[in-house]
Amino acid sequence: MAVRHVIIIGPPGSGKGTQAMRVADKLDLKHLSTGDLLREAVSEGTELGKKAEEYMKAGLLVPDEIMLGLIREQLDVLEGGGWMLDGFPRTLPQAETLAELLAGKDLAIDMVLLIDVESEEIVGRLTSRRVCGDCKAVYNLSMLPDGDESVCEKCGGKLVTRPDDREETVRRRLKVYEEQTAPVLDFYRKLRGVTEVTGSGDIDEITAEIIRGRR
Ligand code: ADP
Ligand code: ZN
Repeated sequence: MAVRHVIIIGPPGSGKGTQAMRVADKLDLKHLSTGDLLREAVSEGTELGKKAEEYMKAGLLVPDEIMLGLIREQLDVLEGGGWMLDGFPRTLPQAETLAELLAGKDLAIDMVLLIDVESEEIVGRLTSRRVCGDCKAVYNLSMLPDGDESVCEKCGGKLVTRPDDREETVRRRLKVYEEQTAPVLDFYRKLRGVTEVTGSGDIDEITAEIIRGRR
């Protein structure tokens, strides 16, 4: 059976966004990242962005009612095609509402994918992540020749730390994940099973394992 509707879940810094992009491309699915949509809204200064910004900077989840409005809009866009949901659902109420929305459209989830990484590895990864303020390219501090003085090798832009990648905020995001997103995994475990892949190691290998493990 072709895999058309996929949900990808993982702690912050698990590489779920990277894998979602790669797997969506391979399986010809549209990649929908709520984190990307929110960051876009923040940088454009829209009403949604203004509401979401403070929560995101603090490492907290954006309230369900805002997220549900956003996903309702997007599901209409996604109707008819295959998709990979990245960053949604992140709370039990979001998962329950998504189930209702999909049932109403006669759509089913074909795969729930968990990319798992240990907390201490995550803290190390995120606090050493730098992003280009212009083209959004992602780097790791350990790979930058001039450390925090380095510039983007793609566009020459200034490299910055995402406000939610500060250590204190990373630890809060991990706590939020344990408290609010882990129950979503249990929900799907009971409902249909979850495909689990470790997010440590070579990026290409992880992608290959996901593709092999699809069911
Ligand atoms: P990460 O997985 O690295 O935490 P994302 O890019 O998926 O990052 O999301 C960034 C931030 O956007 C989250 O920390 C949260 O504040 C907000 N966000 C994204 N998706 C949701 C959601 N479904 N519900 C609530 N907040 C969300
Ligand atoms: Zn750049």
